[in-house]
Order: sequence, then C-alpha cells, then structure tokens
Amino acid sequence: MSELRALITDIEGTTTPVTFVHQVLFPYAAKHLPDYVRAHALDPAVTAALKETAALDARAGVSVDAAINVLLEWIAADRKATPLKALQGLVWRKAYESGEVKSPIYDDVVPVLESAKRAGLSLHVFSSGSVEAQHLLFGHSDKGDLRPLFTGWFDTTTGPKLEAESYRLIAAQIGCAPAQAAFLSDHPGEIAAAHQAGMTVCRIDREKPADFSATDPAGTPVAGSFSVAARLIGLPA
Ligand SMILES: [Mg+2]
Repeated sequence: MSELRALITDIEGTTTPVTFVHQVLFPYAAKHLPDYVRAHALDPAVTAALKETAALDARAGVSVDAAINVLLEWIAADRKATPLKALQGLVWRKAYESGEVKSPIYDDVVPVLESAKRAGLSLHVFSSGSVEAQHLLFGHSDKGDLRPLFTGWFDTTTGPKLEAESYRLIAAQIGCAPAQAAFLSDHPGEIAAAHQAGMTVCRIDREKPADFSATDPAGTPVAGSFSVAARLIGLPA
C-alpha cells in the first residue's frame, strides 16, 4: 500500500452536523433575506439577482417588495433557483462575517486534521456546497478559522460526488495517485465512488458512538469519529 499523502473530507454529516444547514442556515436566510434585499437593493450583486428573479417570475419585476415575495415563495417551496441561491449566499456571508453565525465542527475533527498535517499530508475539502460556501464554513467555525489547514477546495464543478472519475480528477489535481489519498464522508455512495477510484476510504457514521468501528458490506471501514477513522485508515498518529 502506498503511503498516504493527502486527506480529503466531506463536510455535511462528516465534519459538521447535517442539521446545521437545514436547521440553522436556511431558516436564517429566510428570516433575514427581506431586510437584506431592501438594504442592499442597489448593490450590483443584489440588482443582478433581482433582475434574474424577475426573468423567472414576471410578478417580481413590479417592485423590490414584489421580488421579495416571490423569493419567499421559492424558499417555502424549497425551489433552488439560481438568484435565490446567490442572495442566500450574500446573507450567509454577512452572518458569518459579523460573527452572528458560526459553523459547528465535531470535536474529534481538528485534532486529526492537525496531526495528519503535521505528518506531512495535505488536507482538502470535497463538498457539494460551493467552494465559496466551504471557505465561509471553515473560516467561521466554532473551532476558529480552519482555512489555513486546507490546501485544496473541491466542489461539484470538479464532478459529481457519486462518480469515481471525480475522485480521480481530484487526486490528479492534488498531484498524487488515488491510492495515496484518503477520503472521509458520511455518504455510502460517495465512499463507494472514491473506493472505486482507488482511494483509501472510511465512512463516518455520526449516529454511532465516537469509538464505533465496523466494516461495510463492500469491505470498506466505518467509524463513529475522525479519531477512529484515523486509526482504521492508518493515518500517522
Ligand atoms: Mg455528507
């Protein structure tokens, strides 16, 4: 087995509770979006998003308030329209930067990342959240600014998380063989894809106790925490 040179991690359900996005970030954006849009209606990014909103729904073209009503309808319907996503991103940026929102990182994550880095591995993120959202999340966490730990940030512009090819591309961009990279995620399909690409993998199951370890039917390891995962995939201590 080649020695590990890189560690790649998923975010949601792996380093951070899945509930954070749905129970904190989305409700926050819904609550603060109307005031944000009114206060920043003349900012180029907001103007562009409002124009795009009106292009998708003519009712939004009448006034800023009419546009806000359409946006709130989309939020209620869980519609992932591009201008809505752009505005939510702006509201979150402000919330993170003002310190009003901090992303929770499981306690076992940072010690493992730090010791992997000390051992010479490079650290990377692969998440379906945009690279910009990844920077915000790790830059404003309840464990401080974790961005300096990471050297590579990958989102689905590299490729879908369920396709082996994405993991081959990531290894190539990192500059190592897939076998020299380890990938951690809570998602069995992502683990299967990375494994198929030849990466060392470990599924993180946050429903299990921290000391949990097992083997999936596919023969890949499962851990209840990063510390157990580190042991299972042979990360240097
Ligand atoms: Mg996940």
